[in-house]
Amino acid sequence: MMNLILFGPPGAGKGTQAKRLQELFHICHLSTGDMLRQAVSEGTAVGKKADSIMKEGKLVPDSIMIDMIAERIERPDCAKGFILDGFPRTPAQAGALDKMLKSKDVSINHVIELKVDNDKLVERISNRFSCADCGASYNLITKKPLKEGVCDICSSKKMIFRPDDNAETVSKRLLAYQEMTAPILPYYAGRKLLRQVNGMAEIDEVTKQIKKLIK
Ligand code: AMP
Repeated sequence: MMNLILFGPPGAGKGTQAKRLQELFHICHLSTGDMLRQAVSEGTAVGKKADSIMKEGKLVPDSIMIDMIAERIERPDCAKGFILDGFPRTPAQAGALDKMLKSKDVSINHVIELKVDNDKLVERISNRFSCADCGASYNLITKKPLKEGVCDICSSKKMIFRPDDNAETVSKRLLAYQEMTAPILPYYAGRKLLRQVNGMAEIDEVTKQIKKLIK
């Protein structure tokens, strides 16, 4: 099994790298942000609760997130392992994850932190968008679709910007990362699991660095 956690502030490239690692290692990609966005679009009870919290750039309550991951990690596509992207985000979530994995007799193999300067994060986030149908991600400056407004992967013309990717919400999300999430890192460092990667490098280069660390 290969069980990974990706850490990094919003815009660090966790989702992009997780999608690549998912294909490379045939493990599941568990993005709590994606799960919440799906719940919002489906109008579920969780989605209704999370919608306004996400728009404000705050964190959704731990109990909701822990239940969400506990259910998802049991599914067959996670049999060979998982990449956690956006979870755990608080010390309580990290503690709950440990308990969950212990009861399954499974352990984390690597924790990777993508390091990116704040200026770069804001620039990336304010220019990013994605395909509503297949989720492929794009950037107005660095990664436009080959044909404007058309997805390179699935040819869909539905491109979307995330409602929480605006300057005001982004600064709150960055703060939440610094205050609630970054304090978990020493916990994994103490267990000799934490590795850092320069998230400012090209996408391919970042993938190469991660592969080198986990082989
Ligand atoms: P992300 O796509 O990871 O940037 O997440 C988008 C938003 O979803 C965050 O700003 C939070 O409001 C919420 N969210 C995602 N994952 C978590 C989590 N593990 N704990 C609390 N809130 C979360």
